[in-house]
Amino acid sequence: MLLEELHKREYLDTIFNQYEELTKDQPELTSEIFIFERMVSKRVKKILKKSGQLDDVERKDLKEVIHFSSIAFTEGSLVAALRLDYCNRCGWCCENCSPIYITKKEYEEYESSDKVMIAEIKPFEEGYKFAEDRPCEHFIRKTKKCDIYNERPDVCKAFPILIKNENEYLFRPNQNCKYAVEFVVQKAITEITTCLKIREDPNFLKDLEKLLDKQIPAKEDNLDDRVKKWNKIADDLDGSLD
Ligand code: SF4
Ligand code: SF4
Repeated sequence: MLLEELHKREYLDTIFNQYEELTKDQPELTSEIFIFERMVSKRVKKILKKSGQLDDVERKDLKEVIHFSSIAFTEGSLVAALRLDYCNRCGWCCENCSPIYITKKEYEEYESSDKVMIAEIKPFEEGYKFAEDRPCEHFIRKTKKCDIYNERPDVCKAFPILIKNENEYLFRPNQNCKYAVEFVVQKAITEITTCLKIREDPNFLKDLEKLLDKQIPAKEDNLDDRVKKWNKIADDLDGSLD
């Protein structure tokens, strides 16, 4: 199988099994992911056809890569975070997400803000959240804009990646979000091109490991720095995949 050029089968099976378990508790996920992966698959095939690589990938490999890319979120997945060009500014996230989580640090910054009123923020779990969401009270429906854009919380900057804890992220496939679809399309293309490259040149894997060893972001880096560093790795990787 193509993905085994880069990942151990044991790791892949763990990811697939964990997902199977999750769908037992959330059965609606099965149909959501089916539609999502169909959207991703169309885009991936189109891109591979254009680059002349579609015939190099077997159908069952393509299916596995797309499923893996849709459900496995690794730290390296942050390569696509803050890729604002993937977002079509539809506003679905601002109208439908709940809760809109605010960290303690963000709350402290909002205390001196003249745009974000702390009276509109409530304690929530370990931190805070906006009192009104679905839609968020800062969403201007007419213009589909955020009235606190430059001060919006990290959860908004990172969406469709979800911040679970500080420096811990999750991704949930979301067919309503063009960014989410494009994010997985790009992940799948990177997986495929990397695996094909390793198949053709076994030394490529060693070079890739060296590249990752040198540049992986530190635990204490904030979201913006981690994303910048991962995007730099992705650019270097793209350069070596040409
Ligand atoms: S704060 Fe702004 S970006 Fe975040 S959900 Fe509200 S409107 Fe959207
Ligand atoms: S739902 Fe996705 S595409 Fe739409 S505004 Fe939010 S991040 Fe962008």
